[in-house]
Amino acid sequence: MRPFFSALALSTALAAVPVATALVGGAPAQAQQAAPAAAKPAGQPAAGDIAQQKAPFALPPLPYAPDALEPAIDAETMKIHHDRHHKAYVDALNKAVEDNAGLKGQTLGQLVAKAGTLPPAVRNNAGGHWNHAFFWETMAPAGKGGEPSAALRDAIEAQFKSMDAFKAAFKQAGTGRFGSGWVWLVATPDGKLAIASTANQDNPLMDVAEVKGTPLLGNDVWEHAYYLKYQNRRADYLDGWWQVVDWKKVSDRYDAARKK
Ligand code: MN
Repeated sequence: MRPFFSALALSTALAAVPVATALVGGAPAQAQQAAPAAAKPAGQPAAGDIAQQKAPFALPPLPYAPDALEPAIDAETMKIHHDRHHKAYVDALNKAVEDNAGLKGQTLGQLVAKAGTLPPAVRNNAGGHWNHAFFWETMAPAGKGGEPSAALRDAIEAQFKSMDAFKAAFKQAGTGRFGSGWVWLVATPDGKLAIASTANQDNPLMDVAEVKGTPLLGNDVWEHAYYLKYQNRRADYLDGWWQVVDWKKVSDRYDAARKK
């Protein structure tokens, strides 16, 4: 069995070479932006515009190979999480919107914003679609995520005392979420940062959120996000996840939120 797996790993590694070369080649920001745009299916907005999507909603491609987040998140988990779980939310959302004729033509962002007034199937699956699209975009291959911008680092240190204290509080919110849900860093309307946790597929953009604001980063703490590799060790998953956070993307989101 071993040679088979080695060959498979090698072919996967070779497939990733052009991307790695492009990044080493000197313009990482341009190369990172070019990859998702090239993968964009015709007729659909880029993943960053996911809130503008209307029915029929579509599954955006992963912005990197399924094994790109190893070892923090294993390839098998990424494939099942994206190809099956996220797809299931998209399919169920399309059915739920079809079953509620008054919702046709509404954007994903509009559905999320008033989720508390909508049938549970729309709330849960609109949240599931938005949250997962945001989650894939929040991550980058290990070593490619860069560092927080000076402005974001200052804001985190002002709010949480230090980056380490922020990460500890984020971990506590993630481990403390009973059952399934998400943990977020949010830019709140008063110009501050907050850590928030939501149940199920809710998020801070929803009318029902306890802490409302613009999500800057979010981690999925449903068991399907980590169980194959980490089993019951959610705390270890939360620790490992920092290796694959795309701080460039998170910093860009912070800049955009400050300009609102
Ligand atoms: Mn998930």
